[in-house]
Amino acid sequence: MSRLLEVHDVHAHYGSIEALKGVSLDVCEGEVVTLIGSNGAGKSTTLRSISGLTPATAGTVTFAGENITRLPSHEIVGRGIAVSPEGRHTFGRMTVRENLELGAYRRRGEKLDEDLERVYGLFPRLQERERQKAGTMSGGEQQMLAIGRALMAQPKLLLLDEPSMGIAPILVQRIYETIVEINRSGVAILLVEQNANYALGTASRGYVLETGRIVLSGDSGQLRSNPEVQKAYLGT
Ligand code: ATP
Repeated sequence: MSRLLEVHDVHAHYGSIEALKGVSLDVCEGEVVTLIGSNGAGKSTTLRSISGLTPATAGTVTFAGENITRLPSHEIVGRGIAVSPEGRHTFGRMTVRENLELGAYRRRGEKLDEDLERVYGLFPRLQERERQKAGTMSGGEQQMLAIGRALMAQPKLLLLDEPSMGIAPILVQRIYETIVEINRSGVAILLVEQNANYALGTASRGYVLETGRIVLSGDSGQLRSNPEVQKAYLGT
């Protein structure tokens, strides 16, 4: 498998706070990789650095062989990286369909119908609620919408920030089934989770982040059987 994303020794700051202290990880084409860690470890910041929202202050991000470390975020979307952010961040006063169309804003009109059909195929609930204002949807439905909106950008790599957060277990399961389907259609996924059970059940490999540093990495099976991971992240 060829390497699609390579994050090398990335540092990131919020003012004087160093949130990332040299993070390195990679994702190959077609792979699902997870980044697990507790509150404040720097998981969201890692995704923000990749997508250009909180650019790295040192280190490099390479995507499909090109250095994207200093590109503005809209250009990074154009290269094929889309984010489904934590806490959903859908546009509450806009309808489901309008939110989805926004995800494709770089492509004006081109093949939008086909992409909408695809997203509706993955999440039939969104089609049923097409005209509903996003702000009136349940947490799980808004999570589906955030993922659907990211897919409308036709990404090669999808960055998913805590898709299970605040959602009923039955919907989490449905969302995880859909993540597998999305991956089968050829989209690589970097999955950030506190819920290591779901994440390690879906990803082939994973990294553990603690206070801005990767402290462990390996196949999901290895991580699952690691006593420290079990204690800290699997609740066993
Ligand atoms: P969580 O699961 O709780 O979202 P996380 O692993 O995603 O945690 P980050 O959100 O990346 O963690 O935060 C990493 C560190 O950076 C934390 O110490 C956090 O307080 C700090 N941080 C995040 N965003 C900002 C900000 N806008 N301004 C200042 N500090 C921030």
